[in-house]
Amino acid sequence: MTEIMDIVTARDPGQPEFHQAVSEVAESIKPVLDKNPEYRQAKVLERIVEPERIIQFRVPWVDDKGEVQVNRAFRIEMNSALGPYKGGLRFHPSVNISILKFLAFEQTFKNALTTLPMGGGKGGSDFDPKGKSDNEVMRFCQSFMAELYRHIGPNTDVPAGDIGVGAREIGYLFGFYKKLRNEFTGVLTGKGLNWGGSLIRPEATGYGVVYYAAEMLATRNETLEGKTCLVSGSGNVAQYTTEKLLEFGAKIVTLSDSNGYIYDPEGVSQEKLEFVKMLKNVRRGRIKEYAEKYSGAEYVALESGQDHNPLWDYQAHCAFPSATENEINALDAQNLVKNGVKVVAEGANMPTTPDGIDVFLNNGVLFGPSKAANAGGVSVSGLEMTQNSMRLGWNRDEVDNRLQMIMKNIHKTCLDAAEEYGTPQNYMNGANIAGFVKVVDAMLDQGVV
Ligand code: GLU
Repeated sequence: MTEIMDIVTARDPGQPEFHQAVSEVAESIKPVLDKNPEYRQAKVLERIVEPERIIQFRVPWVDDKGEVQVNRAFRIEMNSALGPYKGGLRFHPSVNISILKFLAFEQTFKNALTTLPMGGGKGGSDFDPKGKSDNEVMRFCQSFMAELYRHIGPNTDVPAGDIGVGAREIGYLFGFYKKLRNEFTGVLTGKGLNWGGSLIRPEATGYGVVYYAAEMLATRNETLEGKTCLVSGSGNVAQYTTEKLLEFGAKIVTLSDSNGYIYDPEGVSQEKLEFVKMLKNVRRGRIKEYAEKYSGAEYVALESGQDHNPLWDYQAHCAFPSATENEINALDAQNLVKNGVKVVAEGANMPTTPDGIDVFLNNGVLFGPSKAANAGGVSVSGLEMTQNSMRLGWNRDEVDNRLQMIMKNIHKTCLDAAEEYGTPQNYMNGANIAGFVKVVDAMLDQGVV
């Protein structure tokens, strides 16, 4: 294991997020390698950490002032053992190769857990959609697709959304792909409902996280009813996590964005949530306005350089980090445990640092790691691909029932794998082991490619 980290760090120094993701998986799967020497012999670990292909390209575009802007973009085609590369696109100034490689690596195991035929990929750009006009976003998306279109396709690589890429961006990207290829295919997921999208896709990640949390609680004969919950973020995942939590009778007291968070002791109601959806998805405003509109809530601005995030320092039973990677460090995790948190379900990808995870696991917290807990989003993407292939659309119940079944299944798979390898209730080990075994077995069947 140290060996694989030596290889990865020597080959790609300066990719801390990628190293973090690899190290977590390598640690979990040690007993699997010990039990199955053929894996070591076939160098599966060495192969799986190396992306099958990385595409990097320039995205030039003209802003509303007529000035030329240049962004950098990537698509990491990580692993195609189980199906076409599948994973989102992230538009955010922090995007770099390390972040996308960590996301693509995670995505590979996550997609394996869904049981649907999808390989792993991820892409994006350091473009910041914040503060840009619709026309600027469209011009950027068109320039981005002017290069990406030659590398993707419904049987090759099927991107979707992630941070900074929602319905608007998917629309512009799809429109330009169609124009360039003269083909109407399911090359992207997260499409609009009336042009090939699936019902429940926008809700899927958040709903899935809550289904997963409910499954974890059920192992202790508990439900979400009446539980106080901390949610971070206020984008797609946070919104639909909040919506499903409300439906299950829980109370949500926090939401956030990159500038700060709101604490609402009365709880976010469905009506307040509708305001958040309008604020974020239509007006593209900031969460601060929540506290301006609802006087019972307070807004706390986040200062940079703080050693902990005060959002994680309130009394609660459950936490749903739904903002971004490494948003819970060891100190935050200690605060959560001290304040009574018994369930953590990760909506964002890798939101807890490794020593934060240790704090949860050492304190008996039911910890649902992102590659299992947030797999609902890509699962419904998989169902969107199926519907596109059939040229049919399922109704809401059909998709939601399938999503619930998939999340239940993932939960059980993680639980069983954790048990089998001697770490009962450790969902992180379970997810890493089950995802890894599925991918590497397919790789071995397919030879050295
Ligand atoms: N970006 C999402 C994820 O992290 C969804 C990917 C997809 O639907 O392809 O899983």
